Amino acid sequence: MKRVLITGAAGFLGSHLCDRFIKEGYHVIGMDNLLTGSKDNIEHLFALENFEFYHHDVSKFVHVPGELDYILHFASPASPIDYLKMPIQTLKVGSLGCHNLLGLAKEKNARFLIASTSEVYGDPNVHPQTEEYWGNVNPVGPRGVYDEAKRFQEAITMAYHTFHGLETRIVRIFNTYGPRMRLDDGRALPAFMSQALKGEDITVFGDGSQTRSFCYVDDLVDGIYRLLLSEHAQPVNIGNPSEITIKEFAEEVVALTKTGSKISYQDLPKDDPKQRRPDISKAKEILDWEPKVDRKDGLAITLQYFMEKLGVEVKS
Ligand code: NAD
Ligand code: UDP
Repeated sequence: MKRVLITGAAGFLGSHLCDRFIKEGYHVIGMDNLLTGSKDNIEHLFALENFEFYHHDVSKFVHVPGELDYILHFASPASPIDYLKMPIQTLKVGSLGCHNLLGLAKEKNARFLIASTSEVYGDPNVHPQTEEYWGNVNPVGPRGVYDEAKRFQEAITMAYHTFHGLETRIVRIFNTYGPRMRLDDGRALPAFMSQALKGEDITVFGDGSQTRSFCYVDDLVDGIYRLLLSEHAQPVNIGNPSEITIKEFAEEVVALTKTGSKISYQDLPKDDPKQRRPDISKAKEILDWEPKVDRKDGLAITLQYFMEKLGVEVKS
């Protein structure tokens, strides 16, 4: 049985990755310090023989007994309000944490994959974003703690690949949504859905003309799984190219929840990217991957999850 270590396992994406690797017949070792994640996301796995959980901060020395075939480094605060609240932890998990895990991968001769992000493109001047674009990041702006940590992760991962010959993979993840997002993590979808379900106004930042492209979590996990097993060490964008303005996105959520919530316009956070859409030609060509879940279907599944969390029903 192949053995995989997944950091950030109790978080949104990490927990879905644990599920996928269990389904594929792996022995999964989840690691998390529960900074922004929750054991609720993985408690259904605790009884399984091929699942182990380590409560550990990966910015400190990481030890895992036994062999490892793969390491997926997903630990990091990921939503803007989380990393603005925890700037130093964010920089440490992206730098010291990543270095510790690369050392572990070298020791175990394991293939290493990092969760990079569309944020490495910053507020992009090239649209849609291809992997060849170097980005437009403000290193000393508020988002710099996250963006630069991720850029450093890419650089050190590539250095281990070229200098030590380590097998490495880099996935640049674009905005992803689905069940197990935290209701209060401040990202657009959980914010809009919980506001609509509580009958509150929807907080759209700026005039809502900025765009994002939202990918359903199952599609993302499938892309990551394919990338890990591919032979491609250069970064690959994984995301859904269906682009929408944040105002339209808020309106879609209101329509879906049938709540009639009004939009309340708030100040746009500093350095908020104006547009974002992945060019996924590379993923299509190399991984034979493209997203399958329409936003309408993905949002309906996610709404069901948030309704259960909040204990509310939507009018039919
Ligand atoms: P999340 O906050 O739900 O999960 C992150 C997990 O990492 C949490 O469980 C947290 O407790 C854990 N963690 C944080 N610091 C840690 C540390 N020092 N040691 C051990 N565990 C630690 O966020 P997510 O949305 O699941 O994001 C997971 C990864 O994917 C992150 O690296 C993020 O940067 C990346 N990513 C996510 C998105 C997205 O749209 N969700 C987009 C781009 C990149
Ligand atoms: N956003 C918003 N209202 C909210 C939360 C977010 O208008 O309550 C906007 C935010 O300014 C950004 C977009 O929605 O333009 C996506 O934000 P999110 O935090 O989900 O992701 P990111 O900015 O990291 O892409």
